[in-house]
Amino acid sequence: MSPSKEENPYCSRCGHPVEKRFLEGRERRYCPQCTRILYDNPVPVVTAVVLKGPQVLLVKRGIEPRRGWWSLPSGFIEVGENAQEALVREILEETSVSIVKVRPLPSLSQEGVRYASILILPFLADYLSGTPLGGDDAAEAAFFPLSDLPELAFPSHRLILESALASL
Ligand SMILES: [Zn+2]
Repeated sequence: MSPSKEENPYCSRCGHPVEKRFLEGRERRYCPQCTRILYDNPVPVVTAVVLKGPQVLLVKRGIEPRRGWWSLPSGFIEVGENAQEALVREILEETSVSIVKVRPLPSLSQEGVRYASILILPFLADYLSGTPLGGDDAAEAAFFPLSDLPELAFPSHRLILESALASL
């Protein structure tokens, strides 16, 4: 499980109630029992711009937030995976599409809907094989012409797509 947006009011090491203190430049959770700062870190999310000629792979979201909207396929990294491995797995699970030539794009930091903070790790990739079919958290998957895209679920995905196309 990924860390939830709900802050744990207790120290994860000793169970003592934590306090808010201004430390190292920002308000942080602090355990007075073990005199430890409980750092909050963003949850990394991988996202892909998968191109097949002049088309890009999108998924229709089957879960909240933004259920029913089209977005770039994305997902959380599992323990033991690097970002590229997570991306290849997520794309296959959500769309039945295999990808190649995975290369990184600039990352984005964003306040999450379900998580306090997410770090989006976007990648550009090429289509290799497979017929798009929605799976896992995706209700549908399809290639859309770049010239005729639906409105995307998240403004960040539009920025990622523009950045990916500018890098070609
Ligand atoms: Zn503690």
